[in-house]
Amino acid sequence: MDVQRELRRLPSVDRLLQEPHIVERIQTSGRELVVDVVRSVLEETRHSILAGQPCPDTEALVHSIVQSLDKALRPTLRRVINATGVIIHTNLGRSPLSEAARRAMWEAGIGYSNLEYDLEQGRRGSRYYHAEALLCRLTGAQAALVVNNNAGAVLLVLSALARDKEVIISRSQLIEIGGGFRIPEVMAQSGARLVEVGTTNRTRLSDYERAITEHTALIMRAHRSNFRIIGFTAEPSLAELVELGDRYRIPVVDDLGSGTLLDTAPFGLEHEPMVQESVRAGAALVTFSGDKLLGGPQAGIIVGRRDLVEQLRHFPLTRALRVDKITLAGLQATLLHYLKGEALQTIPTWRMIARSPEELRAAAERWAEALRAAGLPAEVTAGQSAVGGGSLPGETLPTWCVALTVSSPDALARRLRAHEPPVIALIQEDQLRLDPRTVLPDEEDTLLQALIEAFHDAQHASEVQP
Ligand SMILES: *Cc1c(COP(=O)(O)O)cnc(C)c1O
Repeated sequence: MDVQRELRRLPSVDRLLQEPHIVERIQTSGRELVVDVVRSVLEETRHSILAGQPCPDTEALVHSIVQSLDKALRPTLRRVINATGVIIHTNLGRSPLSEAARRAMWEAGIGYSNLEYDLEQGRRGSRYYHAEALLCRLTGAQAALVVNNNAGAVLLVLSALARDKEVIISRSQLIEIGGGFRIPEVMAQSGARLVEVGTTNRTRLSDYERAITEHTALIMRAHRSNFRIIGFTAEPSLAELVELGDRYRIPVVDDLGSGTLLDTAPFGLEHEPMVQESVRAGAALVTFSGDKLLGGPQAGIIVGRRDLVEQLRHFPLTRALRVDKITLAGLQATLLHYLKGEALQTIPTWRMIARSPEELRAAAERWAEALRAAGLPAEVTAGQSAVGGGSLPGETLPTWCVALTVSSPDALARRLRAHEPPVIALIQEDQLRLDPRTVLPDEEDTLLQALIEAFHDAQHASEVQP
């Protein structure tokens, strides 16, 4: 092929800007963006011609330009349907929010608010006021502070209370929880000196006691959120650590990670450490996430002794970890569910945990029937849902899934991800599976429609022959 001749066939930017479809897009999307996209499509085409491809006709070029424009104008952060059965799925945004939390966030975004304004006194107030009383009432703590996320909460506590001093922690708790959060690294970042005691599997109270020096600022406990150690293991209880700390006047900080205000045991799960228990056991400060088992927006919550929380409040880093008004509005609404005793019914995370196998089986049967009626090879199979989000490692909840046996479950899963809205499914035992547990009631019809479309498209492309 004559590359030079093909290159000469390529229309100019000005020529393309006169195409009717492009003129239309200039009117709706603005000239600057359109010109930018036309240039980059021409540039890409030039490269492909130099690589030996023929010059596409103008119609094809216009089509590419319109597609690029659509892509540039579509938000990349989109709602997806989670059919994985992992309830607190960090990659999928952790906890879906309750209706009241959503409404509160919406309200806070619409107009002005009394975020930092004392309505009674008519003067400046504190944003930290809004969640504090609720958190104290729910956890039994003297004081509370909310920051951007729990990683920030831990960094803040260590920076404010232990910079250039020592923090004692068991070797069995030097955890990495993903996303680059590793206790030894956060410790280093804060300027605190890590003093590790005990062994991977066994740490005694006397190990902690022997490590105490005049430089010790804190004793720290971190919850093993995403793994467990079994067999020949031992660790002192939080109460024992607090008793030791009291003797030496050293505060004990408890990083719960998820933390929970409700007991997980009634749902057939192990008992996840509860915030109230840590406060009652005497932890000076307890840190936990807003968007794990609490079921609210992303936040880092610190509850504990008033004098220490006061110290944190005035530490400069707090300003850099400041929580925004939308988050505070959602958090407050979420906490109110607990106060009213309605959390199990209103907070999606807890509703999903509480769904019974019978209810899930009925949903799976209903879906399978609708799919079979549309010609899909759907059956119902037993499965396991996970709570996820750095809580209850290795624990699962029995569930019932819809399973599709097709020749290429990966290809079908890819088509579902490309759907609008995208659907995230599971691939297990060479089947594509969908767990109803994490699918919200208003998503059911959309999900089934997506499956039917994806399956038939895949059939056309000969991807699904069983
Ligand atoms: C999840 C977790 C964190 C980090 O919390 P984010 O809210 O994700 O910042 C810290 N510590 C532990 C033990 C955790 O499980």
